[in-house]
Amino acid sequence: MADKFSEHKSILLKNGVIVGGKRSPIDILIENGTVKEIGSVTNPSKTTHTVDLEGAYISPGWADVHVHLREPGREDEETILSGSDAAMAGGFTAVCCMPNTDPPLDSEDMITSVKQRANGHLVEVFPLGTVSKERKGEELAEIGNMVDAGAVGFSDDGDPVENEELMRIALEYSKMFGVPIVNHSEVRSLAKGGIMNEGAVSARLGIPGIPSHAEDIMVARDIRLVELTNGRLHVPHISSIETIELVRRAKNKGLAVTCEVTPHHLSLTDSNFEKFDAAYKMNPPLRTEDVMEALRAGLADGTIDCIASDHAPHSPEENEADLLDAPFGLVGLETAFGVCVVNLLDTKVLKLEELVEKLTTAPRKIYNLPSAEIKVGENANMTFFDTTTEWKVDSSEFNSQSRNTPFEGMTLKGKVLGVVNGNKIYSEN
Ligand SMILES: [Zn+2]
Repeated sequence: MADKFSEHKSILLKNGVIVGGKRSPIDILIENGTVKEIGSVTNPSKTTHTVDLEGAYISPGWADVHVHLREPGREDEETILSGSDAAMAGGFTAVCCMPNTDPPLDSEDMITSVKQRANGHLVEVFPLGTVSKERKGEELAEIGNMVDAGAVGFSDDGDPVENEELMRIALEYSKMFGVPIVNHSEVRSLAKGGIMNEGAVSARLGIPGIPSHAEDIMVARDIRLVELTNGRLHVPHISSIETIELVRRAKNKGLAVTCEVTPHHLSLTDSNFEKFDAAYKMNPPLRTEDVMEALRAGLADGTIDCIASDHAPHSPEENEADLLDAPFGLVGLETAFGVCVVNLLDTKVLKLEELVEKLTTAPRKIYNLPSAEIKVGENANMTFFDTTTEWKVDSSEFNSQSRNTPFEGMTLKGKVLGVVNGNKIYSEN
């Protein structure tokens, strides 16, 4: 990783094809972190760091708005820096990290310390704060102070905000500060004890299931509270056909409701549980083929705003526990794009411009992150990649400190070749 990363006063990207732009390759000159020239750059100075992209695509830098960086508390699984390295290798120049660390990010000081730890890395880290003090679901955390310190949204992710009054107040604050409340949508009494989707497969295998109702009943409640407060709700990792319908109706009513879907819910189903492998244990769980198709369609028609990985590192000891006790989740930053190419581009669910939109413009808008435009005078913030190289997932090569992935050994397509942010560059070439 270190040998592929460098900083330069002057960077020249040669022969790249801007997604959504002209089809012929162009050059981009970056001086002091700002885009200086787009077109044909013929006389770069001797000290310019030049990378020949040989016709690869360039797009605005991607943002993954749902990652767990585990610091503080579980630095054996991931740190802010190792997670940022994983993001960089995965093509992301920005991540939003969830506050369910130990201790949780529930104060101005905690938000500030995450920002400081991340400072200087190519990848920008935008923390969310907790909705409730100590993430206990009882009292509202100091949302205003955390916004001042740089929190971009609020969530008790990992757990739902169960108390309606607390959710109502949180949504009122979200309106006041213009930031989303991200509720882990799960009715706990319905999900309790379940480790996979409740349906035909769970019944056949005799494994306790979680019905999709556990998600959409909570989303229905939250949308009603948005109607009451005019607040902003972002629904994470959706996995239910009814949720898609609820969000669609909310949007039609003009409510400030957005949602995201993960690459694994767009590519895997509950039939994988036949392998009795904890790598497929997700929360919310992998659903049926029908749900997967509906999620793809919802993404294509714009009901689902963006793609986010829900990167959730876990230690090997935890993953080797038996199926019932193993933790939920996967490390997703470094496989997200390859999974999307195979399941969204090659299947013609999305065009390349649309996929890029779901990875950069849309997620940045939800959290008011700095926009990443490839334009003269703007901060250089971009990702370069191809959509054709096939590669086999080998988790031992991950930059993430954890290895829990359901995609091990699978052939994915589309290679991230590098990212630029300001005067910093990470490049495979
Ligand atoms: Zn969650």
